Amino acid sequence: MRIGLLGGTFDPIHFGHLRSAVEVHEALALDELRLIPSARPPHREQPGCSAEHRLNMVRLAAGVDSGLLVDDRELRRDKPSWTVDTLESLRAELGPEVALFLIVGWDAFCGLPSWHRWECLLELANLVVLQRPDYDLDVPEVLKDLLAARSVAEPAQAKALHGQIVCLAQTPLAISATHIRSLLASHRSPRFLLPEAVLDYIETNGLYGPVTED
Ligand code: ATP
Repeated sequence: MRIGLLGGTFDPIHFGHLRSAVEVHEALALDELRLIPSARPPHREQPGCSAEHRLNMVRLAAGVDSGLLVDDRELRRDKPSWTVDTLESLRAELGPEVALFLIVGWDAFCGLPSWHRWECLLELANLVVLQRPDYDLDVPEVLKDLLAARSVAEPAQAKALHGQIVCLAQTPLAISATHIRSLLASHRSPRFLLPEAVLDYIETNGLYGPVTED
């Protein structure tokens, strides 16, 4: 069993997220890919919407593709979780014989040494690093060593249950949740940047509307 994990605030989920998920699913011949909406610290609660709405939108988006599943474990906790906690919880549930692939963008990967207990991540999962053609971030020395020791040259060589790093080139889609929120806040349409069902949900529930003064 090979399971991909894509975390995010998904505020709201859009085709940039979904396209990445589908590409990784195919490139690594995954059995399933789990979208994991994250809880946010209170200071990030603005200007997006509630965890419940974010989760509902992720469910609507995943419903269109049977290879995508939604895992709400981070929202069921009473505080934001470290990624390492989420991986430990998945390992406790799924056992040691499942191959886990934690998907991160190149920029997130470059900041890895600041993550809580980051050295433990590869003991729990493989890392899939999504590269963009235009990336310009320098890799910290410690990560250069890690890449040299743990990278596989081809996705087909990613056979370990944990501990490997797979770099995948990715089709860049210039879509961000920030941009979608700003379109909605100024009464412009984000149509074709996100699934129709998610846009319907946003409209039905009046999410991300213009800020009103009271
Ligand atoms: P925001 O604009 O609110 O910061 P976002 O659109 O960047 O949100 P997140 O929920 O923060 O979305 O991202 C979750 C994951 O999806 C991250 O790993 C992020 O790098 C990735 N991601 C976001 N946008 C895209 C995109 N257009 N193409 C590919 N991956 C993306």
